[in-house]
Amino acid sequence: MKIGFIGLGAMGMPMAKNLLKDPENTVFAYDLVERTREIAREQGMTVFQTAREVAENAEILFLSLPNANIVEVTLKSIFTPGNNSLTVSTIADVSTIAPKSSVHFGKWCEEEGIKYMDCPVSGGVGGAEKGTLTFMVGGEKASFEKILPVLKQIGKNIYHMGDVGSGSAVKIVNNYILACNMISTVEGLILGTKMGLDVRTMYDIINKSSGRSFITDNKLPNFIIPRKFDGGFAINLQQKDLRLALDSGAYETVPLFMGTLASQVFESAIAKGLGAQDITSVLKIYEELIDMNVE
Ligand code: NAD
Repeated sequence: MKIGFIGLGAMGMPMAKNLLKDPENTVFAYDLVERTREIAREQGMTVFQTAREVAENAEILFLSLPNANIVEVTLKSIFTPGNNSLTVSTIADVSTIAPKSSVHFGKWCEEEGIKYMDCPVSGGVGGAEKGTLTFMVGGEKASFEKILPVLKQIGKNIYHMGDVGSGSAVKIVNNYILACNMISTVEGLILGTKMGLDVRTMYDIINKSSGRSFITDNKLPNFIIPRKFDGGFAINLQQKDLRLALDSGAYETVPLFMGTLASQVFESAIAKGLGAQDITSVLKIYEELIDMNVE
């Protein structure tokens, strides 16, 4: 299969690398950052200097980009007027964006004769590396069936949700819960620390108790305990997802109390210059408040 991959960041690079493992696949790649393009080339991908060239060689095109504005700019660069040399027939957009953005891109791609599917993922960088991601796919059933064998090479749990936009909707709900869990876990750890509890003890017991979540199970041992806050899921991206949920709440007239508070904590972390670090680094905001480290 001729597969295009645009956006080779924390998620995109391991997904593209896993696709390379199948000798039947050729991966055509592009990223804005030159050093990233070099790494992709070293990995065995066929690297181009523009997104359009990728779409002129691949059949299925993955987009793993930070936000909807960048997806928009990328699609604009691909759909150059008068360009009849596109080979791509299906776009699998694994970026986390608003459902209404997915619907907009779906209609736009349709006009260009290309099937668009919102395919946001969950499972973090670890899931992307291990090929165990969860995919939530919105789009026509026939297009879903077409990309399913490729998704199976990089994911474990793959769901067809319905029309374009429905994958993005469930992804936003998931990340809303993730954001709230992140903040409540940090607050719990801070309280425990102040009460004299050791972080490893809390980790052991909470993961066998009802406070367990992806945050306690994954983020606690991999980021908080080793105090390694780089890589992973950037606060800037989490805050973007939280805003998407809060905007949807305002549109649907749904009060979202916890997320509004969580968003203020993430905003404080961004103001402190922690936006590019993993979401677990919100811990530092609380540690400063109580003048103690969670250890
Ligand atoms: P990232 O910032 O690490 O990667 C984004 C990549 O896109 C970067 O390599 C960047 O150079 C590239 N890029 C930016 N503008 C570009 C352009 N115009 N053309 C080509 N490349 C461009 O982000 P990520 O963590 O890999 O996340 C990608 C998407 O997946 C986001 O929408 C994010 O919300 C979502 N997501 C992330 C995680 C996670 O744990 N990191 C998990 C699930 C979903």
